Amino acid sequence: MLLNLEAMKKDISIYVHIPFCERKCKYCAFNSFCATEHEKEEYIGLLCREIESRAKDVSQEYAVRTIYFGGGTPSVLSPQQFERVTSTIFECFDVYDNAEFTVEANPSSITPEKLEKWKQLRVNRLSIGIQTLKDKSLAQIGRLHSREMALEKLKLARKLFDNVSCDLIVGLEGQSGKQICGEAKELLSLGVKHISCYLLEVYPNTPLFHMISNGQFSPLSDEDVVATFNKLATYLQDAGMQRYEISNFAFPGYESRHNLNYWSRGEYLGFGISAHSFLHGKRTENAATVADYRDGKVTAETLSPREEDEEKIMLGLRCNLGFRLSDLKAIDLEKNPYFADYLGQGILRRSGGVVTLNPLFYHLSNTIISNLFG
Ligand code: SF4
Repeated sequence: MLLNLEAMKKDISIYVHIPFCERKCKYCAFNSFCATEHEKEEYIGLLCREIESRAKDVSQEYAVRTIYFGGGTPSVLSPQQFERVTSTIFECFDVYDNAEFTVEANPSSITPEKLEKWKQLRVNRLSIGIQTLKDKSLAQIGRLHSREMALEKLKLARKLFDNVSCDLIVGLEGQSGKQICGEAKELLSLGVKHISCYLLEVYPNTPLFHMISNGQFSPLSDEDVVATFNKLATYLQDAGMQRYEISNFAFPGYESRHNLNYWSRGEYLGFGISAHSFLHGKRTENAATVADYRDGKVTAETLSPREEDEEKIMLGLRCNLGFRLSDLKAIDLEKNPYFADYLGQGILRRSGGVVTLNPLFYHLSNTIISNLFG
């Protein structure tokens, strides 16, 4: 059935937002919360309803290249709940046989039964929220797992899945370059193929924010964050990974195709609360609360030509895809003195009309990008 799809249908990615978590981490400002079984069941029903209803308009035109269950913590779903949503997607859309299918999972909610079910339902990539392998830091930021549990669940996951990604956080109290490189080494020795490195961000009104104000937690200074991140980046690249996006490292062939679609401004459908979609040049965002989502509230956003250009520059320069100069409609970079200067200094590279940021300057990307906006 899928043989001729390529010629007939356009590619699309699907994102499913699972907002539930077993417990709120102390640094978390995402739209996620603890829920009862009844609330989860209701949400699964709403998700399936949204998938069915939106598929009616688009499934003839599109076939699915990537599926991504993010959160929150998708691994808190029972195998039956996960199967209900996944089966709905497969019933409503044509999905390529080689589609990338990622599930975000936390060590505390990974079980052998869930791993088996995910495998059976065509999941072929796991993104595991390890964050750190230091027990003291895990406790400080309110994670539910220990170092021992993280390693045990990772080994279990690797028995069934080749393509496993792990998240690490940079900026934790007392963290050193040596420590985080040691953690990365342990993850790589267990066959991890992709690592996402996030900076610890402190949002107002989170428990971590108050812990810092009360002197109970001391994040790394900005200077130490940069030094620690750079050591980790060097370590991962020396180990053979490519830094294909500011925060993401992968062995060749293990880049996240789902995220590459976002960064190249491909089309995608987002299901669930707060999920975004980009289809036919139009962006929409689902309601942020279950009550409003149940009522089908959606916000549409239209970007001006200038905002579109800014998005192309920003997304392109944050990863190795870059952006095409000829795709810019409202911003003339040839008139921007920074542009020529950055090219001259080798900070930006231009090849065949595509502009990329030299990865050595990723840490300056915010300043570079804002200077290009003029
Ligand atoms: S698991 Fe992730 S989404 Fe859930 S509370 Fe922790 S940081 Fe937030």
